[in-house]
Amino acid sequence: MEFKDITEFVHRLYGTEETVPLSVPRFVGNEKKYLEECIDSTFVSSVGAFVDRFEEEMARYTGASRAVVCVNGTEALHMALMLCGVERGDEVLTQPLTFIATCNAVSYIGACPVFIDVDRDTLGLSPSALKAWLEKNAKVEGGVCRNKKSGRRVKACVPMHTFGHPVRIDEIAEICSEWGLALVEDAAESIGSFFNGRHTGTFGEVGAISFNGNKTITTGGGGMMLFRDAELGAKAKHLTTQAKIPHRWEFRHDSVGYNYRMPNINAALGCAQLEHLEEFVESKRRVAAEYAGFFDGQEDFVFFTEPEGCRSNYWLNAVILKDRTSRDAFLEYTNDHGVMTRPVWELMTDLPMFEHFESDGTPNARWLADRIVNLPSSVRP
Ligand SMILES: *Cc1c(COP(=O)(O)O)cnc(C)c1O
Repeated sequence: MEFKDITEFVHRLYGTEETVPLSVPRFVGNEKKYLEECIDSTFVSSVGAFVDRFEEEMARYTGASRAVVCVNGTEALHMALMLCGVERGDEVLTQPLTFIATCNAVSYIGACPVFIDVDRDTLGLSPSALKAWLEKNAKVEGGVCRNKKSGRRVKACVPMHTFGHPVRIDEIAEICSEWGLALVEDAAESIGSFFNGRHTGTFGEVGAISFNGNKTITTGGGGMMLFRDAELGAKAKHLTTQAKIPHRWEFRHDSVGYNYRMPNINAALGCAQLEHLEEFVESKRRVAAEYAGFFDGQEDFVFFTEPEGCRSNYWLNAVILKDRTSRDAFLEYTNDHGVMTRPVWELMTDLPMFEHFESDGTPNARWLADRIVNLPSSVRP
C-alpha cells in the first residue's frame, strides 16, 4: 500500500479535497439556542440552570452517583487526586504513554509519578505490569502501601483510556483494592466508551473527563469528575467552589478552596452537545470501521481496533506502523498532502521534568511510541 492510497482514501472518507483535520468539534443542535438562553437570563457565569442540568444528565448517562463540572480535564484530575488523599511526597502509579496533563496533575500536588508499562492491545496501563511492579517493589503495612526502596507511600493509581479505548479496568480495580490504592481514571478521552457495558470513569473513586475543543464533545473548555460515592462528589463541589458554605448572604469558607467552577455558558454548550453524543460516537465508530476495512490484511499498517468486550468512542483513530523510520516518512507525506496526522505523545519518561522518576522500563510503551500515528477522526457531516 502506497502513502498516496491512504491520503486519497481519507479525502474520500471525508468527502473533501481540502486538508482533513484530526479532530474538530461539531455544532448541529441546540448550542446557539442554549447560549442565547444564557445571555437572555444574564446567568452566564458560574451559577445557572445549565450547570446543574449538565451534571445531572452526565450522571444519568454514565451511571455515576454524582457528576461535578469544573474548568478543565487537567483540574478534574488534580482535584480527583486531592479528594483521594494524595499528598506531597506520595507516589502515584500511572502510564508513560499519556497526555502530559495526567502527570502535571500529579505534580501540582508535589506527588511523584511512577511509570508502569501499557498493554499493546489496549494502549493503556497493563494490569500484569502493575501487579509485577507492586509485588517486586511494594508492601502493605497497616493498610498503607509503601515503596520498599523509596519508603514513600504509594497512594493512587491513574490509568488512562487511550484514544477512548478502555483499559483492562476491572483487573486494575481489583489490584488497586488488593493493595489499598485509590483508583482515579483519566477518562478525559473516553466519554461514550464502555467496558463490559459500564461507562469508563465509573470504576474507581473518581473519573476525570475533558470537554476540550478536540474531544468527542466540547464545552469550549471544561472538565468533569464522576463519582461512585455521592458524598465525595458533594465534597468536590464544595472544594471547587472556594469551599464556600452555601448561605443567602454570608461569606463563610471552611477550608482552602479553589475557583474551579465551570461557567453556565460552557455548561449550556455541554447540554447541547450531550444531546448528540450517541450520534457522534456512532459516526466515529463508522469512520473507524471504514479505516479497519481499508487497512485489513496490511502488514505495514495495523489499524488499532477496540479491545474485546468494549465499546470504544474511537476518539482518535490510530494505525501502527512497522518502525519509527516509516512512521516519520508517513507523517511527512500525509501532512504534506492534506491529511493531518500526528505521532502519539512523547513518553512521559523522556520529558525533562519526569525522566528522573521511577519506571519499570516500559518496553511496550516505547515500542508503541515509535509506531503509532493518529488519523483524522472527526464526526462526519
Ligand atoms: C485532554 C486530556 C486531558 C486534559 O484535559 P483538558 O480539558 O485539556 O485540561 C487529560 N488527560 C488526557 C489523557 C487528555 O487527553
